Amino acid sequence: MAIQIMPDAAAHLPFYYGSIARSEAEEYLKLAGMSDGLFLLRQCLRSLGGYVLSMVCNLQFYHYAIERQMNGTYAIAGGKAHCGPEELCEFYSKDADGLCCTLRKPCNRPCGVDPQPGVFDSMRDNMVREYVRQTWKLEGDALEQAIISQAPQVEKLIATTAHERMPWYHGSIARDEAERRLYSGAQPDGKFLLRERKENSAYALSLVYGKTVYHYRIDQDKSGKYSIPEGTKFDTLWQLVEYLKLKPDGLIFYLREACPNPNMPGELTSLSAGKSRLLPMDTSVYESPYSDPEELKDKKLFLKRDHLMIDEVELGAGNFGCVKKGVYKMRKKQIDVAIKVLKSNNEKTVKDEMMKEAQIMHQLDNPYIVRMIGVCEAESLMLVMEMASGGPLNKFLASRNNIVELMHQVSMGMKYLEEKNFVHRDLAARNVLLVNQHYAKISDFGLSKALGADDSYYKARTAGKWPLKWYAPECILYHKFSSKSDVWSYGVTMWEAFSYGQKPYKKMKGPEVISFIEQGKRMDCPTDCPAEMYALMQQCWTYRWEERPGFTTVENVIRSYYYSIATKTENGPETEGKSKAALP
Ligand code: ADP
Ligand code: MG
Repeated sequence: MAIQIMPDAAAHLPFYYGSIARSEAEEYLKLAGMSDGLFLLRQCLRSLGGYVLSMVCNLQFYHYAIERQMNGTYAIAGGKAHCGPEELCEFYSKDADGLCCTLRKPCNRPCGVDPQPGVFDSMRDNMVREYVRQTWKLEGDALEQAIISQAPQVEKLIATTAHERMPWYHGSIARDEAERRLYSGAQPDGKFLLRERKENSAYALSLVYGKTVYHYRIDQDKSGKYSIPEGTKFDTLWQLVEYLKLKPDGLIFYLREACPNPNMPGELTSLSAGKSRLLPMDTSVYESPYSDPEELKDKKLFLKRDHLMIDEVELGAGNFGCVKKGVYKMRKKQIDVAIKVLKSNNEKTVKDEMMKEAQIMHQLDNPYIVRMIGVCEAESLMLVMEMASGGPLNKFLASRNNIVELMHQVSMGMKYLEEKNFVHRDLAARNVLLVNQHYAKISDFGLSKALGADDSYYKARTAGKWPLKWYAPECILYHKFSSKSDVWSYGVTMWEAFSYGQKPYKKMKGPEVISFIEQGKRMDCPTDCPAEMYALMQQCWTYRWEERPGFTTVENVIRSYYYSIATKTENGPETEGKSKAALP
C-alpha cells in the first residue's frame, strides 16, 4: 500500500542525488573524472519510486532506469530483482550482468550538496498536511504536532480513502451531469472534477479548457494502479490528481481549480471510521477546549462550583487526596474531567503545593500533555483537568505493538516542555496517562518547575520524597534538575514501557541504585525490546548531563524508528499483496 508515499529508499546513500536531470547527472560525473565504472543514483521523474543509475564507461554516459516492481523489489529492465537500490548497486559492482561495465567508483555528492527533493517528495508532505488540515480542521502548532505524530497513519488513510473527501470528487454521476456542473458558474481553464463511472466501476476525469469540457478515462491496471490512458501510474486517485496539477501528462491542460461537489457532506463523515482506528486528532482532548474562541471568552483560572459535577467514581489516589471523575459545563459543551480533590483537612502548605501545580499546568497547552481546565475552591481545593481515562502507562499491558508510538508522543510532550523551559521532575510510566490505546499524555506536574529565562537548571535546596530510581546522578548528587535530567527519567520510562510495566532496578533500594549507576552499570535490555530502542535508553542514561542528548534529539531518534517500523508493517511482503487486492 501507499508505495510512493513512503520514505525514499535511497535517501541515505552518499551517491544519491535525488531529483536531478540527466544533464546534471552528467555534469557531476564529468566533475568526478569520467573514469570507467564511475556511477551515481538519481530519482526517476517518470515512474514513482523508481531510480536512474547514471554511469560512465569509455568516456560515454549510460543511464539505466531502475523500476520499482509490484512486490516492492527493484530491478533494471531484464535484470535481477533486488530488495533495495543499495543492494542493487552492490550487485552490479560485482557483476556487470548486461550493463556497460561493473560499478567501480561511487560519484559521491560534493560536500554540502543534499539530495534534491523530488516533486513526489514535496507532494507527499503536502498531501499529509492538507489532509490533516482539512480532516481535523487544525492550524498552527496543533497541525504540526498532528503531522509529526501521525504521519504514518495518515499516509495510510490517504492511500485508501482520500479522494472521497476531496471537493473535486463527485462520486457516481453521469457524463452529462458532470458537464452540467462544470458549465455552471465560471469556466476557467483547468476547472475539473473526478467521477466514478457506472459502467465498470472505474473513474473519469472531466476538465474544462477553452470553455469546452473534455473527458478522460482513468484506467486501473491489474495491480490496482490508476492512470489516464498512456499516462503515469499512481497508487491513489489523489496522487494522480496532484500530479496532473503539476504536469498535464497527456491532458489538454493541467488541472487547476476543483469544481466543488455540491453534495459533499460538509462534515467529514465516518468514511474512514471502521476502516481505521481512532487517531489522537479524532478525540476531544487533542486540542484545548479553549481552542474555541467562544469558550476562550470564559477562560479563568478559578472555575465556578456550580458548573462542576463531581462523580463518586475514583480514578486514582495519592497522598494529597484522590482523583475523581466529573463533568464540567462550558458555554457550548460539557466535557469529561478528572478532578484532583485535596483531602478535606487541607493545610495551607498542601494547598500551596496544589496551587503551584495549577500555575504550572495553566501555562501548558500541548496535545501530549494533560491540560488543566482550572481550579475550583469549594468544599475543598480541586484541580480540574481534562480526562485521560485509559489509566497510567505502567498498568497498560493489552496491545504491545504500539509502545514506540506512545513513547514517541511522550517525547513530543517533553520536547514541548523543554522548549518552554519547564522541568517535569517526575516523568515515569505511572505519570503517563492514556486517552486510548494509541494516545498518551504526560501528567502529574506536582514536582515541576518553571526555569528562569537564563537558567538551564533548577536547584533544590533540600532533598524531598524523590523518585530516586528515575533520577539522573546530578539530581541526587547536586540537586540539579534540568531537561537533561528529565531525559534520564524518559529513559527509565521507556524501560518501564518496553518491560510492560515492570519495576525498574528490581528490588534494589534507592542508595543501591545510586552505586549501581556510579559503577557504570545500567539496566539490561528488556525482553524483545528492539535494539534501536535500547540504544536510545542507554543514550538517555549518559552519566554526564552535558553529554546527554536533549529532547529534540530524543524525539528525532524515536521518530525515525517509529516511521521506519510503520513503513515496514504497512508495506511488508505479506501484507502488501493483501492490501493491493483490497484496493477499490
Ligand atoms: P500523584 O501526585 O499523587 O502521583 P497524579 O496526578 O499522578 O497524583 O494522579 C494520581 C492518579 O489519578 C493517576 O495515577 C491516575 O490514575 C488518576 N488521574 C490523575 N489525573 C488524571 C486525569 N487527567 N485523567 C484520568 N485520571 C487521572
Ligand atoms: Mg503520579
